[in-house]
Amino acid sequence: MSIADNLAHLHDQIAEACRRSSRSESEVALMAVSKVHPVEVILEAYAAGQRLFGENRVQEFQEKSQHLAGLSDASFHLIGPLQSNKTNRAAELFDAVDTVDSLKIAQRLSSACTALNKKMPVLVEVKLSHEESKHGLAPEELPELLAAMEVLASIEVVGLMTVPPWSEDAETARPYFRELRRLRDESRKMHPALTQLSMGMSNDFVVAIEEGSTCVRVGTALFGKRVYPA
Ligand SMILES: *Cc1c(COP(=O)(O)O)cnc(C)c1O
Repeated sequence: MSIADNLAHLHDQIAEACRRSSRSESEVALMAVSKVHPVEVILEAYAAGQRLFGENRVQEFQEKSQHLAGLSDASFHLIGPLQSNKTNRAAELFDAVDTVDSLKIAQRLSSACTALNKKMPVLVEVKLSHEESKHGLAPEELPELLAAMEVLASIEVVGLMTVPPWSEDAETARPYFRELRRLRDESRKMHPALTQLSMGMSNDFVVAIEEGSTCVRVGTALFGKRVYPA
């Protein structure tokens, strides 16, 4: 199967999930997660019509971005953890950061965007599981962070993002997706710009769409298994 075939199949599955949950397909963006794969897969997906991409690491994307200058209508989001010493670089390279999880990172990113004369939409990553390895803000800290971020001049929070614990069974993720949606709906009362919900990956995006996802982040089902360097 080519990347174009996989894309077409994913769009069919997204359309079907939207139909079943009485949603419009235009509400759900498909983000192509190209981390670990070479830059060629981005170019191939772009040629097949894909415009929204997610990358996990600032350094990795910096190298790839040198080969992507021609793709001016594509957008690239950071979907991996952002360290405070990388906020300047991230502000330069990315169109959005979907993993803001502290005020310190938010402040640094906003300052960096101000210096670049750039206004950046961001998502706050919420940690809903108790796994050690997961990043994100505790849900009870969300109201305070959102309030503090209101004054930042060059970034705007447009939604929430989460990664539930990995499981074979997509149904395991449903309560996490439902909880993120509840938090978004609650936060939106005070912060009307919070419309987006980034949730769902290759194995559970159908469930995420049923629970209100506005952006599914798909890597493996589009580009195949990632082979990590030894
Ligand atoms: C790698 C990654 C994905 C894509 O995962 P797949 O299971 O390959 O679709 C989505 N979101 C985040 C945050 C990731 O790190």
